[in-house]
Amino acid sequence: MKHIPRKRFGQNFLKDVSVLDAIINAIAPQKNDIMAEIGPGMGAMTERLLPKLNALHAIELDRDLVTYLNDKFKNKPLTIHQGDALSFDFGSLLTEPGQKLRVVGNLPYNISTPLLFHLMGFAGHVVDQHFMLQKEVVERMAATPGSKAYGRLSIMLQWRYDIDMLFTVPPEAFNPAPKVDSAIVRMIPKENPASCSPENLGKVVTQAFSQRRKVIRNTLSPLFTTAQLENLGIDPAKRPEEIGIAQFIELSNQL
Ligand code: SAM
Repeated sequence: MKHIPRKRFGQNFLKDVSVLDAIINAIAPQKNDIMAEIGPGMGAMTERLLPKLNALHAIELDRDLVTYLNDKFKNKPLTIHQGDALSFDFGSLLTEPGQKLRVVGNLPYNISTPLLFHLMGFAGHVVDQHFMLQKEVVERMAATPGSKAYGRLSIMLQWRYDIDMLFTVPPEAFNPAPKVDSAIVRMIPKENPASCSPENLGKVVTQAFSQRRKVIRNTLSPLFTTAQLENLGIDPAKRPEEIGIAQFIELSNQL
């Protein structure tokens, strides 16, 4: 089948075999894994995952690709769920108590942030996640305090996951080539994340980074007095990028 890549679905298909091999190596699938691939596209990753697994689930939005994949992998242990990964119930793939899911995918970049937040709702049932994303987004996800990339995304995700950028991938590895560099990220849900309401954490972090160059005494004044910051041992004269994740969590727990 000739498929014309659809921009609105973020379709950039991986064609570089060495990159595909490196991704599969990083994932290191084990036969009994319960694995879900988001956005299988034309199956470049799928066909490398299937021989290593007893079964694989895939979630794909594009109906034409679902038809193509069902035909291509007719006799293989692949279950394709046609639909939007942003509203997909990943918990439905787990049928027995205690089971955990592995999630992988070369993600559509246009929905990457909302998808990461949707997946956070299932983190307690997930072993790990390996994704291809825009490099700049992965840098923000993995950034540590004091760096330019550190901000809302770093804090919101690192509260719940250990995050590592594994390697970068150039545009030529795809067809069509995206305009940006890409990177593979590994996310492992923390076993004992600090207790915190993600909504409150989101409120504090959004407010703190609303003016990145200003000190938090000013930006956080709608939520906290200077005395409250000091009582928590947080220097009000610091900029948000100098405040660690544990401190943001403490602040959110005061709301
Ligand atoms: N995995 C393939 C590869 O590496 O060649 C395709 C990757 S392509 C970047 C992203 C894929 O996600 C496309 O197949 C696209 O149709 C699919 N997709 C886009 N939006 C989606 C959504 N909301 N839910 C599920 N799949 C989606």
